[in-house]
Amino acid sequence: MPELPEVEITARLIGDAVAGSRVESALAPGINALKTYDPPLSAIEGRQIAGIRRRGKLFLVELEDDLTMVVHLMSAGRLQLFDTRASLRDRTSRLLVRLDGGRELRLREFGTKQRAWVKLLRSGEVDEEETIAALGPEAWPDPPPFEELLVEPRPLYALLRDQHVIAGIGRSWVDEILHAAMISPFKRGSDLGPDEAQAVREATVRRMSDAIAHYEETLSLPIPDKLPMPLTVHRRNGEPCPRCGDRLEAVFYEDYVMCYCPTCQTEGKLLKDRRLSRLLK
Ligand SMILES: [Zn+2]
Repeated sequence: MPELPEVEITARLIGDAVAGSRVESALAPGINALKTYDPPLSAIEGRQIAGIRRRGKLFLVELEDDLTMVVHLMSAGRLQLFDTRASLRDRTSRLLVRLDGGRELRLREFGTKQRAWVKLLRSGEVDEEETIAALGPEAWPDPPPFEELLVEPRPLYALLRDQHVIAGIGRSWVDEILHAAMISPFKRGSDLGPDEAQAVREATVRRMSDAIAHYEETLSLPIPDKLPMPLTVHRRNGEPCPRCGDRLEAVFYEDYVMCYCPTCQTEGKLLKDRRLSRLLK
């Protein structure tokens, strides 16, 4: 599931590669993938791509004459660049943007749910687009002080992933950030002391920066379907903590898992496994 560092590196690599390319044609084969109709998708045909930017976990594909395509991958989408055109039988295709020179910028989505979406907007309308307008400040590179952001009495593992509070963090990186900050995922935002809020902010900026630097060194086009994410805690339950060597534990939810180190983060306390406790009710 791509989060801020993965979207950032994708925007950089593909953005550099397609800047200056001209769109030959565009097609949206996905059901409801294209959420706007004015301007029509055909409006990008013949136009040059200026570049690709990131906002939160969204891509902004900027075209000449002030058109911007906003792309939201949701949980299973990928933005990829190919040297050849997609087979129309490729069921993962949601949006195909054919470029001069035979290349194709493609929004693909894996799995059965079709949730990834695209909006074609006039560039002046991007900030008012409802998803973008509702985003909190960027988690990287320079978020505001966290004692101003994390004020709600909700657990940090939920608060940090709330795109309205802070934009870019998801299920993978929240585990990494809280482990790096040595703070319990169940600590409430409103209970954070100034030093703790500062520690979470520092861990956020550092982990995002390190991940992007890692991707800059290791990734090049074509970007693989599954990015090798440099995670040390998330989905590593049962393995030794990279800091203290004790066993990493997990709390299982319906559709994801949260990992933490009891020694480093919860004073040795094991957090309740929600899946188990629901069964026992
Ligand atoms: Zn540990």
